[in-house]
Amino acid sequence: MAKLDNKQQSYLKERFGGRVNFDKVERKLYSHDIAAIPGLIKPLIGSTVPDAVVQPVNEEELTGLIRWAMENEIVLTPRGKASPVYGGVLPVKKGIVVDFYRMNRVIGVDSDAQTATVQSGVVWEKLDRYLKKQGLTLRTYPTSYPGSTVGGWLAQGGPVSDRMRRAGFAIM
Ligand SMILES: Cc1cc2nc3c(=O)[nH]c(=O)nc-3n(C[C@H](O)[C@H](O)[C@H](O)COP(=O)(O)OP(=O)(O)OC[C@H]3O[C@@H](n4cnc5c(N)ncnc54)[C@H](O)[C@@H]3O)c2cc1C
Repeated sequence: MAKLDNKQQSYLKERFGGRVNFDKVERKLYSHDIAAIPGLIKPLIGSTVPDAVVQPVNEEELTGLIRWAMENEIVLTPRGKASPVYGGVLPVKKGIVVDFYRMNRVIGVDSDAQTATVQSGVVWEKLDRYLKKQGLTLRTYPTSYPGSTVGGWLAQGGPVSDRMRRAGFAIM
């Protein structure tokens, strides 16, 4: 895949300002998850340093980015907290890492229906604290709940998705 050209970089700067990063050191931090890539595997996948890192803040920015990336044939790799340690967040085709760090809001809780609507970068523990204020709690979560996101878990098939669905989760 070709690197981002000047026009593409300008577009990203205009849309995301300080929330797009082209810095080499910063990009390197996004080339692995919370573990180092095993030496045996590294030569097989080559460099995983992305061309840019973007942190959208809402759904509108995200859908705009996806549309633009598709038109420009640029690969996007979503990233929550990168906790699973088996490489799902590695940008093996480079392109842009979409970091959900800033999409961390609880949008609403319906205590009657027992449903929660959240942005995908919400960390489980934060959501649970929010629910507890209303006398509610999560029915399930990964044991990595202090350092993993709702979106990251569900995207990779969080193992109790039926219960989650019955509990009424919606992700924006
Ligand atoms: C100590 C520890 C305990 C753990 N316990 C459990 C456990 O009990 N159960 C369990 O299932 N797992 C467990 N895990 C694995 C992992 O932490 C969880 O699955 C976690 O929920 C992943 O969330 P994350 O935010 O780190 O996801 P990430 O690693 O950031 O993302 C996971 C995958 O989803 C994609 N993704 C992320 N966000 C989005 C999005 N918004 N839209 C589309 N795709 C997206 C990423 O590209 C990646 O492929 C554990 C890990 C550790 C280190």
